[in-house]
Amino acid sequence: MNTLDRMLRAKIPSEETGIEIKRTICDICTPGPQCGVDAYVKDGVVIKVEGTDGFPTNNGALCTKGAANRQYIYREDRIRTPMRRVGNRGDGEYEPISWDQAIKAISEGLNKTKAKYGAESVVFMTGYPKWYRPWLERLAYSFGSPNYITESSTCHRAEVMSWKLTYGVEMRPDIANMPDVLVGWSCNPLVSAYPMGRNYYKYKEQGGKVVIIDPRRTPTAVQCADLYIRPRVGTDGYLANTVARLIVEKGWADMDFIESYTHGFKEYKDMLMTYSLDEAERITGVPAKDIMELARLIGTAKKAVVIPSNGLCHHSNGITTHRAVICLNALTGNVAKPGTFLPTFETFVDMLAGFKTLEEEFRQERFPKNARPKIGSDRFPIWSEMVDEAQGMDLLRHWQTKDPYPIKAIYAHGVNNRMYPQSSLLLEMAKDMEFVVATDIFWTDFCKHADIVLPACTSFERSEVKCYNPGYIVYTTPAIEPLYESLDDVEIITWVAQALNIDDELLCSGYDACVKYIYKDLEVDLDEVKAVGTLIKIPVESPPDYLKGPINTPSGKIEFYSEAIAKYKDSHGMNPLPVFEDGFDCPETEDLDMALITGGRITNAVHSRLHDVPWLRSLRPEPAADINPKDAEHLGIVQGDDIYIVTRIGRIKVKANISAISAPGEVNIYHGYKEANINEIIPRDHLDPYSGFPGFKQIRCRIEKAEV
Ligand code: SF4
Repeated sequence: MNTLDRMLRAKIPSEETGIEIKRTICDICTPGPQCGVDAYVKDGVVIKVEGTDGFPTNNGALCTKGAANRQYIYREDRIRTPMRRVGNRGDGEYEPISWDQAIKAISEGLNKTKAKYGAESVVFMTGYPKWYRPWLERLAYSFGSPNYITESSTCHRAEVMSWKLTYGVEMRPDIANMPDVLVGWSCNPLVSAYPMGRNYYKYKEQGGKVVIIDPRRTPTAVQCADLYIRPRVGTDGYLANTVARLIVEKGWADMDFIESYTHGFKEYKDMLMTYSLDEAERITGVPAKDIMELARLIGTAKKAVVIPSNGLCHHSNGITTHRAVICLNALTGNVAKPGTFLPTFETFVDMLAGFKTLEEEFRQERFPKNARPKIGSDRFPIWSEMVDEAQGMDLLRHWQTKDPYPIKAIYAHGVNNRMYPQSSLLLEMAKDMEFVVATDIFWTDFCKHADIVLPACTSFERSEVKCYNPGYIVYTTPAIEPLYESLDDVEIITWVAQALNIDDELLCSGYDACVKYIYKDLEVDLDEVKAVGTLIKIPVESPPDYLKGPINTPSGKIEFYSEAIAKYKDSHGMNPLPVFEDGFDCPETEDLDMALITGGRITNAVHSRLHDVPWLRSLRPEPAADINPKDAEHLGIVQGDDIYIVTRIGRIKVKANISAISAPGEVNIYHGYKEANINEIIPRDHLDPYSGFPGFKQIRCRIEKAEV
C-alpha cells in the first residue's frame, strides 16, 4: 500500500487525498445540545464524523447517536422526490411529481379546505427536527389557523409551564458555580442529554455531592449518585412535600427570602403539615432516614439545586408533582444567586444563549385573534393561556366529535404518530382527512397517509442560524449538497406561503429576511456571521435583577399558591397548591398488579427516529422490557423470553430484559419501536388535567409469558 492509499484509508484531510473537513451541527436530538460536527467530506460524500473541538456544547465529543450521523444521513428510506398518493391512504403507493406540481397541489388543497370549513379546520403539526418551528407556527397563523401543534404536547412544554406558573420564567441550575448539593430529580442526563451529563461528572470531580431520585436505577444513578433515592413510581409529589415539611419544621426554610419574594406560603405550609414522614415511607417506599437525609442536605446547604426533569411531567399528576419539586428551591432561597437556580429565557428555537431575540414576536404577531378557539382551549385552559400551541392531546377528541368545529386537513413536518398514546388513531384520523401533506427526511407511517409527501434534508445539507450559551452565534454552512431532490424545511414553508398567497411579506421573503428580523435588536451583522461560517461571540448583557421584580406571575412573586391555577379551581377542579394526588390510570387489581414506566430516553434512539439506523439498532436490537430479577423469578421468566405487556386497553409482545434498572413491581420499556409500539397501549384518556400531558409513567399493567 502506498502513502496515498494509507492516507486515504486513514481518512486524512489533505489536498492529495481530496478529503476536506466541513463544519456542521448534529440535529438528531433536541436543540439543547446540537453538537458541533466535523464532517470529513470526499467527492461530496460524508465519509467520517467527529465532534468539533472547543464547541460550546460538546467540545470534541459526540454521543452514540451523533456518531452514527453518516448512517442516518444516508438511510435507504430517504424520501427522494416530491410524491403524490396514487393508492389508498396507508398503502404507501405514490408517484413522483415535480416540486412545482407538489406546491400547486398543496396550495389548492389547503385553500380549498379553508374556503369550505374555515382556516381553523387545517391543523399545522410538527415533530422533529425543530429548527424550522418558528416558520411553521407563523405559517399557521398567517393562514388563519390557531391550530399549531408540536410533539411538545406530550414531551417538554409542561415543564416550562410549571416553571412559569411558579417562578414566572424558566430557570436553569448554575452547576458551574458549585452548589453544595445537586439533586437530580428524575434526571438521567448521561443518557438523555450527555453534554449535561458531562457537567455532572465535572461537578463531582470538583467535590460536589450528587443525589439522584428516580424509580429507575439509571446509569446516572449508578455512576453519579452519592445518595440514590428510589421512590415508587408516581409518588414523587408526596416525597417532595414531606421533604418540604421537614425543612420547615427543622427551621431550615429561608424565611427572609420567603417573606420578600414568595406568595402563598401560609397556604403551602398548611398543606405541608398534612404530610408525614411515616406516611411518606409507606407511600413512596423510601426509608424515613433517607427522606430525612435528603431534607437535611437540601435544607442545610448554603446553595443547592433541586433539578427536575421533563419526566416528572409525564405523569397524570405531573404539573403538581413538578411544582412540588421546584418549590423546594424557593423554600430554601436557592434562587437567583450563583450556584443556585438562575432565571433564563429562550433565545431562539429552544436555545438558551443568554441574549434575547424577537423570536416570540416573529412567531406570535400573526396569531389570528378572531379565529375560533384553538384545539384544547376548553379542556386545558392553563395550557391554552400559557403555551403558544394548541394541545395536541385534544386533537383526536376534537376530530371525533367535531366539537366545536370539524378538522379536515393536516399540514405536517416531521410528524411521528408514535409520540402519541394509542398512536394508530392519529393514522385513522389522517385517513379521514380531506387533505394531508407530510414533509419528512424519511418515509414514516404518517407520510404513508399523506396526499402529498415532500423530501426534507438533514442539517448536513443546509444552513441555519444557531445560538449557544453564553452568547455564541453561528450561521452553519452545508457540508454536502442536499441529497436527491430534498430541500430544507424553511425553504419549503416559504414556497408554500408564497403559493398560498397569504398576506405575510416577511414570511414570504425567506429565511435570511426572517432571521434578520428576529436578530434585529442585537449588535450583530448576520451577513458577517454568515461570511465567517464559524462561531462568533456577541456581547451578552447582564439579565435584569429577577428578584427586583415584578416577577411574571399574577402576584408578581414566586407562587407556592398559583393564582393562574386558582382561576380554574371551581370550573376544572384544579388545586393551586402543589398537592400530591395519586394518579394511575386505574386501580391496582390482581389482574393489573404492576406499574408500567415508559417515555425514558435510551442511548441509541430519540423517540422512533433512529431504530432504522443499523449501528444504533445493533445496540438494542429488539424491543425489550426491563423487569426486576425478583419479578422475573416470581413469573418464571428468564432473559430473552418473549413476554406480553398487558394494559387495560391492549398488549404488546417484547423480549424480557432482566435488569435492576426496574424496581420490583415496576416495568420499564423504551418507546418508538415500530414492531412493538408501547404507546399503542397507553390509554389516551389518561392525562394530566393541568397540562393535558399523557401519564406515560403511571399505567397499571401485568406481564405474561408468551407461549412458545
Ligand atoms: S444526538 Fe448526540 S451528538 Fe447529536 S446533538 Fe444530540 S447529544 Fe449531540
